[in-house]
Amino acid sequence: MDESPLNRNLQFLRGVGPQRAEQLARMGIRTVSDLLFTLPRDVLDLTRVTKIRDIVEDVACQVRGRVVDLDGRQTKKGGTLTGVAIECDGNYVRGLWFNQPWILQRFRHNDFVIFSGKPKRRAGRWEFGNPHVQWLDPDDSEANGGVLPRYRLTEGLKMHEMRRIVRNAVEEYAPLVADTLPADFRVRNSLPGLPEALRLVHLPTTIENYRKGLHRVAYQDLLEFQLGIALRRRAWQRLSKAPVFPASSKVDARIRRLFPFPFTRGQDLAISEICTDLASGQAMHRLLQADVGAGKTVVAIYALLTAVAAGYQGVLMAPTEVLAQQHWATLERCLANSRVERLLLTGSLTTGERRQAHERIRNGQAQLIVGTQALIQKDVSFARLGLVVIDEQHRFGVRQRAQFAVDGMLPHTLVMTATPIPRSLCLTQFGDLELSVMRELPPGRQPVSTHRVPPEPNRAKAWDFIRKKIASGRQAYIVCPRIEGGAAVVDAPPPAGDAVGRTEPAAAERVFAELQAGALRDIKLGLLHGQLSAEQKQATMQAFREGEIQALVCTTVIEVGVDVPNATLMVVYDAERFGLAQLHQLRGRVGRGQYQGYCFLFSGVATPETTSRLEILEKQVSGFDVAEADFKIRGPGDVLGTRQHGDLPLLAADLVRDEPLLATTRDHAQELVRLGEFDSPEFAALKIRVLERFGDLMEITGGG
Ligand code: ADP
Ligand code: MG
Repeated sequence: MDESPLNRNLQFLRGVGPQRAEQLARMGIRTVSDLLFTLPRDVLDLTRVTKIRDIVEDVACQVRGRVVDLDGRQTKKGGTLTGVAIECDGNYVRGLWFNQPWILQRFRHNDFVIFSGKPKRRAGRWEFGNPHVQWLDPDDSEANGGVLPRYRLTEGLKMHEMRRIVRNAVEEYAPLVADTLPADFRVRNSLPGLPEALRLVHLPTTIENYRKGLHRVAYQDLLEFQLGIALRRRAWQRLSKAPVFPASSKVDARIRRLFPFPFTRGQDLAISEICTDLASGQAMHRLLQADVGAGKTVVAIYALLTAVAAGYQGVLMAPTEVLAQQHWATLERCLANSRVERLLLTGSLTTGERRQAHERIRNGQAQLIVGTQALIQKDVSFARLGLVVIDEQHRFGVRQRAQFAVDGMLPHTLVMTATPIPRSLCLTQFGDLELSVMRELPPGRQPVSTHRVPPEPNRAKAWDFIRKKIASGRQAYIVCPRIEGGAAVVDAPPPAGDAVGRTEPAAAERVFAELQAGALRDIKLGLLHGQLSAEQKQATMQAFREGEIQALVCTTVIEVGVDVPNATLMVVYDAERFGLAQLHQLRGRVGRGQYQGYCFLFSGVATPETTSRLEILEKQVSGFDVAEADFKIRGPGDVLGTRQHGDLPLLAADLVRDEPLLATTRDHAQELVRLGEFDSPEFAALKIRVLERFGDLMEITGGG
């Protein structure tokens, strides 16, 4: 395969010398194949640009021109008016924006842009109110129509040069790209051939052609990936037998009696999905996703008790000792009158205790075991392990799972997470996990009413509201991004020049002092942050819990573990500095008790970006919906941390752009593998390709 011309170093391509090859390598493009599968980041459609003389009032159109004038001014009513004039074939056209002063910063004199919108005729000139703007590369400014692909570039490499290099590669090498999809499969799914698709996407003649090519190339990439996952899943299923926990209504009734409440619909559904897996004879591998407080532990305990009822051991594993202790306490409460033998295994046992615990696990005396990672050490062996539940850890990999396997018998695994993982990431990262999602919270919980509060005058109203609630007995958290120093920013007007991100973040100490002298002058205030001693922190928390402190100015130290049901108010300073997932966790602190919770997000200067992000929290109450919306705006890397995204071994597909294809390719891949079609000679080439790409990574082999 290495001799394939497609794997040649780019230096051999017409028009690419050592220097160009160096530049391309910087972007991770080394071979001809790399280049062919580097898709444009977008395209510029110049086929629809209208000539000035052809413009019709109020009919949507696009005009192209060079920026010749920029101005921003105040209107009589106190708003702002921003104007950008462009020159289009000898005429002037203006774009106008009301109350969006930041727009001005995006333009430079002599930029080439396209305005799209509905033009109006004013004083002999065409004007576009609030037009959509696209910036052209200087290269594109001379282009006469057509659909132009635009690529990521690197220093020293210009757009027209990149286009030329890609064109050469497509013309010479695209026909050599093997289409590994059998013709009848392609026809069935209306997919063009791969060489043709590469031509469509890199050298498009219409926007429709471009999309068709893009779809095909991304499909190929994702299908190969999903086939890898499907093969891995099959390998696991073939390798392992799993214990069978038969469903029984008697056991079901006995378990339900342990809880003082009926299960939610989400819990019932998750439980029934789990029970089906547990009775199937194949090892369950399921991810249970639900917001904090949705009642995952209940589901875990249910599953564990079915294991015990079937005569197997069940394990509940938590990432930290504190969480293990918490689960243990819950379990003890539930099982107070039960004879189920249980055991807590953490790193802090004495040697003697540990030895004894290991013995009870080995001889099967211990039926239900709660613990930390200490549970997957070599010296722990189980008598009859049937189910492992792993809490709050979504990166539990293939290898750890294998550690529980004994004699080809694999226990069932249930992984639980409150990290809202967007659906499309689930389909890739967790493509071989079945997914159960619980969206609702137990009855009686009210979503935290969340409000974005721009600078004055709105803040005064928020403080009024907070003072009133405190007077009626509630308590408040005031969260700041920093502890000390910095300029005073409490209710400060936006800085001149709209310098987003250059203001100092609000500091807890400063805010504390200012609130004490100002908005919360008659309120008992406390201050809590990470630099206080452990005793100081504890004393402050105690005072807050007992109501001696009415409002607590703090940093994000309160993010985890603090539970004060009477605290129902939260203010977050400089909210735009926090991630949305973090803000969602934070506001969870005021949604615990019987009273309605309120969260006020104080934001600095409002740009469209910060506004739309914070609006997500105003509109969405569930962590999933927050994450999903955030993902759409920022892309997967920022939601989960870049590393996880970088881990995805994709060539051309983009998780945001190609989201709809994830589910399609997953279904296609699973069906091909399940029905055995993938093992037919027709698919041999694709199978080789998949194993080349993913065999090592996913620990699969052809026979799988
Ligand atoms: P999670 O682990 O999903 O964050 P927990 O399992 O800790 O949530 O449950 C949160 C709280 O909700 C617990 O106090 C639990 O007793 C309670 N709870 C769970 N399920 C229900 C239910 N169906 N009805 C009422 N309360 C419930
Ligand atoms: Mg939990």
